[in-house]
Amino acid sequence: MTLDEIKTQLQTAGVVGAGGAGFPSYAKLASGADTLILNCAECEPLLTLHRQLLADKSVEIISALSELGKALGVKRCVIGIKSSYKTTLEAITPVVAEFDNVEIKTLKEMYPAGDEIVLIYQVTGRRVDAGALPLSQGVIVYNVETVYNAYCALHRNKAVTDKLVTVACEVKKPQTVRVPLGTEIDELVKFCGGATVPEPVYISGGAMMGKIVSGNDTVTKTTNAILVLSPEHAVVKSKRRNPAIDAHRAASACCQCRMCSELCPRHLLGHPIDPARFMLAIAHRNLSDTEAYYNALYCSGCGLCESYSCMQGLSPRVLLDLAKRELRAGGIKPEVKKAEGVHPARDSRRAPVERLSSRLDLARYNVPAPLSGSMKVKSVRVPLSMHIGAPSEPVVKAGDKVTEGSMIAKPAKGLSVAIHAPISGTVKLVGKDIYIES
Ligand code: SF4
Ligand code: SF4
Repeated sequence: MTLDEIKTQLQTAGVVGAGGAGFPSYAKLASGADTLILNCAECEPLLTLHRQLLADKSVEIISALSELGKALGVKRCVIGIKSSYKTTLEAITPVVAEFDNVEIKTLKEMYPAGDEIVLIYQVTGRRVDAGALPLSQGVIVYNVETVYNAYCALHRNKAVTDKLVTVACEVKKPQTVRVPLGTEIDELVKFCGGATVPEPVYISGGAMMGKIVSGNDTVTKTTNAILVLSPEHAVVKSKRRNPAIDAHRAASACCQCRMCSELCPRHLLGHPIDPARFMLAIAHRNLSDTEAYYNALYCSGCGLCESYSCMQGLSPRVLLDLAKRELRAGGIKPEVKKAEGVHPARDSRRAPVERLSSRLDLARYNVPAPLSGSMKVKSVRVPLSMHIGAPSEPVVKAGDKVTEGSMIAKPAKGLSVAIHAPISGTVKLVGKDIYIES
């Protein structure tokens, strides 16, 4: 297949980043790259989806990686994987040996090893400037499930209609399930035996970077995990922090120890984000230090400053998030800023996932969540916007009969992908979401 044929197929099949912001995968396949990285460095505590999928479907995923690399004309296809993922490494090593353009790069156990900018530096030694795209350094990054979805699109003519989701913590049967897109979270948790605490709170996407969702929210193309926790759990409380109170606390308790900056993964790579300077500006309501606020745009939101670095229990992340939202609402975008030198002590300033897990009070939930088959549902509510870019445009109307895998929304103009029916049934309503009942 040519690169253009691959791009068309991925857009038509609705393949987007399976996690994070859901960037349409076809749009990443641009010329100018010399390295393609498969991101298997998932670093959020309790998330094990990618390493399990790569071990289970190693031939499909690695052959698709090699194929994409050849179509792009890149020199190297590198699987970035933590050395601690021993079962996965055992499964992929003989498969990789069959492909002359694929290699393995093992990574240290640290958070956030899966951050694209950190991963690119660990794999290639290149630094992406603040605000720049990985392609500026000749690199394209896909995660494991995205490449598996690309394989299914290219070789099985299968569109993206479901998502692997790890359900963990206060749930009877922690597991990783293949779930039809548009399934309600409540139904998914029920499928896993139900919550083991009263009034459970659901966190979608991981303890560090995830967000609280409701039981009526649905599984999308980017839902990697649902953590079920009690309302009193520290992670839930940190997600419910009030920025106004945090600003007062910054004024009274920030001692300017600078630990938040000294351990910030982006700061250590020479990016201009400086949470300690930002906290000083907030504490003194110093609006003249405009750079401290503007540089909030270069924060990745990894949460390390909040959950690991600050011994005063302050949260630079919450206040930086607010500053980012306000800057964006004002139409201010991050310009590309050249990265300064890498901090000489960077290598010794790793945040081990195990320690992070203990600090988050999640170590007790570190039990296997094995791949356990597929879930069937009778109804789905599929959002038309599950990716970055323009929402897909419906091609069905209420009353239409659809079959699983048939297109229900086409790509809009600009950056967009198609959406397909996760189940067979009748379309009940078309709005911002498409409702289908079997
Ligand atoms: S680590 Fe906490 S106390 Fe130290 S500078 Fe950062 S916010 Fe202030
Ligand atoms: S959340 Fe904190 S540690 Fe992470 S990038 Fe932003 S400032 Fe740095």
